[in-house]
Amino acid sequence: MPGLPLDRLVPDHLKGVEPYVPSKPDAELMKLYGCQTLHRLNNNENPLGPCPAALRALREFRPDGAKTYPSGDSYYLRQAVASRFGLDPEQIVVGNGANEVIEFVVKGFCAAGDNIITADRTFAVYEWAAMHIGCEPRLAPLKDYGFDPEAILSLIDSRTKAIFICNPNNPTGSLWSLDMVSAFLDAVDGRAVVVLDEAYIEFVEGWDEASSMALISKYPNLLVFRTFSKMYALAGLRIGYLAGSPELVDVIKRTRIVYSVNSLAQEAARASLGSDPETAAHLARSRAMAKDGRQALSSAFRRLGLPHLCGEGNFVMAELPFNDSLAYRMLMSRGFMVRTMTGFRFPNWIRVTCSRAEVMAGFCQALEEVVGEWRRRGKGPR
Ligand SMILES: *Cc1c(COP(=O)(O)O)cnc(C)c1O
Repeated sequence: MPGLPLDRLVPDHLKGVEPYVPSKPDAELMKLYGCQTLHRLNNNENPLGPCPAALRALREFRPDGAKTYPSGDSYYLRQAVASRFGLDPEQIVVGNGANEVIEFVVKGFCAAGDNIITADRTFAVYEWAAMHIGCEPRLAPLKDYGFDPEAILSLIDSRTKAIFICNPNNPTGSLWSLDMVSAFLDAVDGRAVVVLDEAYIEFVEGWDEASSMALISKYPNLLVFRTFSKMYALAGLRIGYLAGSPELVDVIKRTRIVYSVNSLAQEAARASLGSDPETAAHLARSRAMAKDGRQALSSAFRRLGLPHLCGEGNFVMAELPFNDSLAYRMLMSRGFMVRTMTGFRFPNWIRVTCSRAEVMAGFCQALEEVVGEWRRRGKGPR
C-alpha cells in the first residue's frame, strides 16, 4: 500500500492548523502532579453547580428515554427562551454548546475567501471556526483591553460576512454598554452579521438580560449568543443557543446538525430558565460568588504587585514575572489548575476562575508561595 497522499487529501487551509489539546482527567492529573485535591480554575465553570430545578430535571430523566432521539429542534427549550425574551421560537437555534452555534454561523455565511472580524485577544473559537473552512479571520487589536469599534470597522470590506463581539470579553472582562452596541450596529449598517457573544452576561450586575435581545427587532443583522455552560453550570451537557431575526435564523437552520443537542441537556436547560425564587436565589448566589472571587483574586494580585485585569465575568487575569507554563505546573502541584494565556497572545499571563471563598483563599496562598519561591531563587526583583 502506498503512503497516504495527505498533501493532496488535506485542504491547504488546514495544513498549518494544530489540534486543540484538552486537559487530562482529574485522576490522571493528580497522579502526574502528586496533588491530593484539584480545583479546576481554568474553564470559567460555576462551582456552585446547576440550579435546584435543573438538578431535579436531571434526576427525573427516565433512563429508558435514552433509546429515543431528542427533539431535533429543542422544541420546548426554544419556547421557554422565546417567551422569556419576547421572541418567536422560530428566532432561536439551539446547539451543542455555544461553540457549535459559532460553527453554524460561520458555515451559514462564510465561504473560502470570505472573512470574519473579531479581536486579537478574545475567545479563540471564532478565529478557529473560520480557519477550519478557509475563511480569513481578521483580528482587530484590543484598545485598553477592550473591543475597539473603530479598529473593527476599519477592517470591513466586501468579503466580510460576520463580526464577533465577545461581551463581556473573555479573557479581559471588558464590557460594551448597550449604547455602544447600538452605535456599533448603526455604524456597521447591515454590511455584515454582528454576533454578540454573551456567554458571561448573567454575571454582570444590574444588566437587563432582555436588553440585547430587544435590539434584534431593530437590527436584523444581529445575533445574540448565550450558553448554559457558565452561570447555569451545565458545561458537561453541552448546550447553548443563538437568537436573531427570522431571516438570519432561516439561513443558519440550513447548516444545523440535527440531533446534536441531547435530551438530558434540553431538559436541564429548560428547567434552568424557570423564574421560581429558588432558581433566582441560586443565580444570585453564583453572581455574588463571582464578585467576591474577583475581589479576592485582585487583592491577592495587588499584594504581589502583579498587573491584572479584573472586569466583568467570573474570571480575573494577571501577568506573572515568569513563564506561565512554569506557573501552571507549580500551581498544579498545589492542587490548582489555571489557564495559561501565552497561546492566547497574552504572554506569561494566567486566567483564574472565581470560586468559593475557601478555594480562593487556598489559591491566593498557593500563588503567594509560587511567586515567593520564584523571587527567592533570585530570578527576579524582590
Ligand atoms: C465558554 C464560552 C463559550 C462556549 O461555551 P459552550 O460551552 O460551548 O456553550 C462561548 N463563548 C465564550 C466567550 C465562552 O467563554
